[in-house]
Amino acid sequence: MNKSVISVLGIPVHLAENYLEQVKHMAGGHIVTLNTEMVMLARKNQDLASIITKADLVVPDGAGVVLYGGYRGHKIHRCPGIELAAEMLNLAQQESLPVFFVGASPEVLTRMVDHWQKQLPNLPIVGAENGYFDEITEQQILTKISASKPRFIFVALGVPKQELWIAQHRSVCPDAIWMGVGGSFDVWAGVKQRAPQWMGKIHLEWLFRLMQEPWRWRRMLVLPQFVWQVLWES
Ligand code: UDP
Repeated sequence: MNKSVISVLGIPVHLAENYLEQVKHMAGGHIVTLNTEMVMLARKNQDLASIITKADLVVPDGAGVVLYGGYRGHKIHRCPGIELAAEMLNLAQQESLPVFFVGASPEVLTRMVDHWQKQLPNLPIVGAENGYFDEITEQQILTKISASKPRFIFVALGVPKQELWIAQHRSVCPDAIWMGVGGSFDVWAGVKQRAPQWMGKIHLEWLFRLMQEPWRWRRMLVLPQFVWQVLWES
């Protein structure tokens, strides 16, 4: 499938007309949903940068990445990871593709699975494991993944833990498509909200997140640094 790659301050992002179509043509692999925070983290964390560079699909999840592309003369369709993941779940129901969920607290995970069982009653969910595991449980989770052969594996452990975890373990099920989905389970479970559409349209989703989760302020200090780096690069 046609897709081109551009660099956002040295970190690649793939440009495509339709990301679900890209997913349909993937044999297996790793999907990364790139936002500004992740770009800034990857510039400091060589392991994360290398994982993103090797990922099979890197979608422009965040407004900063889209604005950067526009600034550099590329037309980028923003693809929020949570929306792509929901489209993949719809596809999984339509085509009877088995899915596996890993991540979030046990309560969130249960509510999230309930949500999808109501929304998509024929979705083949072959496993759901919370994201707070020790080494022994981790081995059991990996054995379950390997035995149940899911087509899609959604991992919600937060950035960069989920990307590192996927890179470390994806060989247990190389034909699956593994995707890090951050806080999506919390949203699907109904314990967190997404920003209203009007805020997304004017690129203020980050402000909504900050209001909902004020403890994020320290992580978000990288946003002005991103703008500064872009201007410096110019
Ligand atoms: N999480 C988890 N295990 C951990 C750390 C985090 O399952 O060891 C979950 C957490 O409960 C939440 C998600 O990972 O559901 C992280 O969400 P967040 O919104 O922080 O994601 P990010 O902003 O990093 O993409």
